[in-house]
Amino acid sequence: MNDIAIQVEALCKRYGEVRAVDGISFTVRRSSICALLGGNGAGKTTTLAMLLGLLLPTSGRIHIFGEDMLRHRYRVLPRMNFDSPYVDLPHRLSVAENLGIYARLYGLRRIQVRIGQLADELDLGAFMQRPYGTLSAGQKTRVALAKALLNEPELLLLDEPTASLDPDTADRIRGYLMDYQRRSGATLLLASHNMPEVERMGDDVIMMRDGRIVDRGPPPALIQRYGRSNLEEVFLDVA
Ligand code: ATP
Repeated sequence: MNDIAIQVEALCKRYGEVRAVDGISFTVRRSSICALLGGNGAGKTTTLAMLLGLLLPTSGRIHIFGEDMLRHRYRVLPRMNFDSPYVDLPHRLSVAENLGIYARLYGLRRIQVRIGQLADELDLGAFMQRPYGTLSAGQKTRVALAKALLNEPELLLLDEPTASLDPDTADRIRGYLMDYQRRSGATLLLASHNMPEVERMGDDVIMMRDGRIVDRGPPPALIQRYGRSNLEEVFLDVA
C-alpha cells in the first residue's frame, strides 16, 4: 500500500445521460510518471478534477497516499499541486507578487528563498518584476509551473502541460518536469493526447476512451501491441 500514490476504484462522473467517466479503476505507483492518454472527450480532465477534489464523483472511491479523498482531502491537498497551461494569474501583478501570493496561500516558510530557487531553475529571473499579463505564452507556462512547484508537491497532476506551446518550449517544460521528478521522487500524473510526449515522459500509460480505460502498460509495450500509427489514429483521433 505504501508504494501506491493514487488508488481509484469504480470511479464515475455522469452529467445526465453523459458518462464523462464511466467506472474506471487504476493505481499509480509512488515516484512514477503515469500518463492518462486519450483523445478529446476521453474523460482525462474530469478524472483529474475529481482527484483534486474540484468535482464530486457520481460514485466510486479515490485514495491518495492512503487517505480517502472524499472524506479527508484537506489532509492530502497540501502535498499535491496541479499544472496546466490554461492556469491564469492576475495580469497586473508582477511574477514575483503572483508567486508570493501562492507561497503565502500554501503556508510556506522562507518564501523568498523558495521563489529565488524556482526563478533560477525555471530561468524566470529576467521577468520576475514584470506584470504577468505582459509575458509570452511560453514565459507564462514557466511561471505557472513555478506556481505548481512552490510547495514541492509529492504528487503533481498535469493537464496537457505543453498544449499550444512551440516545440522547443514544450520540450523545455518536459525537461523541467522530468528533472523535478528525478530530484524529488515525486509522483506525476499527466493527462495528454500527445503520444511522443507520453513516450518520452511516461513510465506507464493508462489509455482512455469514452470515459473508460481501454488498456494500460509501458509506452513501448502499447506501441508494440497496437502499432504507433494505430494508437494515434484509433485512440487519439490524429489523422
Ligand atoms: P479534452 O482533451 O478534449 O480536454 P478530456 O479527455 O479531458 O478531453 P473531459 O473534459 O473530461 O475529456 O470530458 C469528458 C466528457 O464529459 C466529454 O464528452 C465532455 O463533453 C463531457 N463533459 C465534461 N464536463 C461536462 C459538463 N460540465 N457537463 C456536461 N458534459 C460534460
